[in-house]
Amino acid sequence: MLTFENVSKVYKGGTYAVKNLSFAFEKGEFIVFIGPSGCGKTTTMKMINRLIDPTEGVISIDGKDASSQDAVKLRRDIGYVIQQIGLFPHMTIQENVTLVPKLMNWPKEKRRERAKELLELVDMGEEYLARYPNELSGGQQQRIGVLRALAANPPLILMDEPFGALDPITRDTLQDEFKRLQQRLNKTIVFVTHDMDEALKLADRMVILRDGELVQLGTPDEILASPANEFVEEFIGKDRLLQSRATVQTVEQLMIENPITIEEKQTASEAVQIMRDKRVDSLLVTDEKGVLKGYVDIEIIEANRKTSELIADIHLTKLHTVNKDARVRNSVSRILKLGTSYVPVVDDEV
Ligand code: ADP
Ligand code: MG
Repeated sequence: MLTFENVSKVYKGGTYAVKNLSFAFEKGEFIVFIGPSGCGKTTTMKMINRLIDPTEGVISIDGKDASSQDAVKLRRDIGYVIQQIGLFPHMTIQENVTLVPKLMNWPKEKRRERAKELLELVDMGEEYLARYPNELSGGQQQRIGVLRALAANPPLILMDEPFGALDPITRDTLQDEFKRLQQRLNKTIVFVTHDMDEALKLADRMVILRDGELVQLGTPDEILASPANEFVEEFIGKDRLLQSRATVQTVEQLMIENPITIEEKQTASEAVQIMRDKRVDSLLVTDEKGVLKGYVDIEIIEANRKTSELIADIHLTKLHTVNKDARVRNSVSRILKLGTSYVPVVDDEV
């Protein structure tokens, strides 16, 4: 659906805003570009919808070289949402939302129907159609910006830090809403952010950029499990990494090496069920020789993400070092002897 082959952009003055970028994305993917300010995210987006052209390399959309197509026509098949959504203040919400359909000469009645349908997608009733942008909250305006990009039903949507200016709660709501919407409409989304939480939450796959170069490309789980270098580690943050690392190790070993530690139950969800029943809320972690390394508190959550049953079911909250924490030594006496590497502990005091 979207490929870059060795794409570079050099602005006047000679600095590379984007350097030798290559990737290929499928239809329906939610792709997130993430990197610090100035790393080339906006430049990448603008090259996709041909607001600027690459200095080198080829960008293809749906298998066709973008540079060989008429830029204006191409842009009509691409929705574009930016932080400063720029709703026209003198136009009603209906007019704002159906700007592109109007350019494409859709008849009036069809445009009105489309506007209603779009507002319904975000649970806004038709009473909003006749309002003006200044009669909406910031979050509602941003929703309208997103809907405007969806209006002519383009297969590809670019979003450049679309929720960056919103308060955290509204932003969170819009992220959830939009992720659901994308899954339903099956659009290909290219989403730009500098916020790691936002990226991890939304992305099917993400691209980490630094100084115009691709540092790492992968699913959020892949990137959390093995960051390419220190830059990525730092960007993800120590806390998040410690959590996810320990989770991944614990989960993998529980499932692959030691599924029988929990009473011969093979699957992660059965293991979780056992732990629930026994009210287990910690795991002791030992190395291969059986030496105690520490323990993790676990909190069983209900979410059932597609990636791995156990990652979804066990949320690792803390990793303690054995020697520094007397509580671990105390709980050793109450080990439920269920296995060698990972020993679930029932501990009322922990
Ligand atoms: P991001 O969106 O990741 O913050 P940009 O793509 O906007 O980054 O910018 C990447 C680099 O290109 C930055 O160093 C920026 O200063 C430079 N740049 C962006 N636009 C222009 C321009 N029109 N002319 C010259 N340099 C630019
Ligand atoms: Mg930018």
